[in-house]
Amino acid sequence: MSDLQDRLRGIAVGATVGDALGMPLEFHPPRPDDFRITEMVDGPLPAGNFTDDTEMALCLAESLLFDSPLNTRDLSARFTGWYQSRPSDVGIHTALVLDKIASGIDFTKAAHQVQAQEPDASGNGGVMRAWPLAIARHANPGLLTAESRIQCEITHTHPDSINGTLLFNYILYHILQTLDTPPELAIRQAIVLSTDQIILDPDFLLTVNLSALRMPKDLKNSGWVRHTIESALWAVQTTRSFEEALVRAVNLGNDADTSGCLTGAIAGAMYGYHSIPERWRHAVHGEYPIRSGKLWFEADFVRLADQLAALSAG
Ligand SMILES: [Mg+2]
Repeated sequence: MSDLQDRLRGIAVGATVGDALGMPLEFHPPRPDDFRITEMVDGPLPAGNFTDDTEMALCLAESLLFDSPLNTRDLSARFTGWYQSRPSDVGIHTALVLDKIASGIDFTKAAHQVQAQEPDASGNGGVMRAWPLAIARHANPGLLTAESRIQCEITHTHPDSINGTLLFNYILYHILQTLDTPPELAIRQAIVLSTDQIILDPDFLLTVNLSALRMPKDLKNSGWVRHTIESALWAVQTTRSFEEALVRAVNLGNDADTSGCLTGAIAGAMYGYHSIPERWRHAVHGEYPIRSGKLWFEADFVRLADQLAALSAG
């Protein structure tokens, strides 16, 4: 297995493991250091189960495998079909948009209508499902930009939500370009190069640039895209392994599954699939499509990563 393939698999399995490790901590207060969760435990779902973050990423991944470059009409139909299958969790903003699409409003208009009612809403719903593009477009930065943006805009049109999604996928992209660089340096370089590519709101840029200096008590880890990005970048810059980064991120509580998802993807790109603890990889699972009876395990995410990576050759 090449180092690049190991890291591409690390993104898919890392994001999913992070979602599942954070699942029982979602909506809970942060855990003190002596009481941190370090194992897959039961929560609203059985231990190891992934949540909507991964389910929506699977919508995006399967849409890309069905039609590439990304067909937004197909993706919007997959998101809506998933929503109509009554998933156990769905973001409030995402539900409002998908309700409109399900009621017949065109998918290019629905998110703008919801955004007009809540102009300041800038949630993390677009970035939490974006990692399949970092794999499929690891050698095509032009498509990575265009598709990261348009997949986000189906539900989230606020500039911060879009820029947060671009930032996250650019960071993954740049880490993958520097395979010979030590991980702690690679993440630093990736953040600098990625922030150079986007015109971020000055406060958002400050949040990103100061992320490594934060104390856990300063991290709100809410569903606001700025908070999620801040938590993930803090976790990967203040630790030296996949396991340590992910434990830090999910024990912030609140939107723990999504900070886990982003942290898992970035740490998976930094340290590779082989660095993900076996006990977590063996525990992770979930059903997709919902109520289809089709179960996804670690091996399915490895295969998915390889299939997505093969799109870059096409
Ligand atoms: Mg979730």
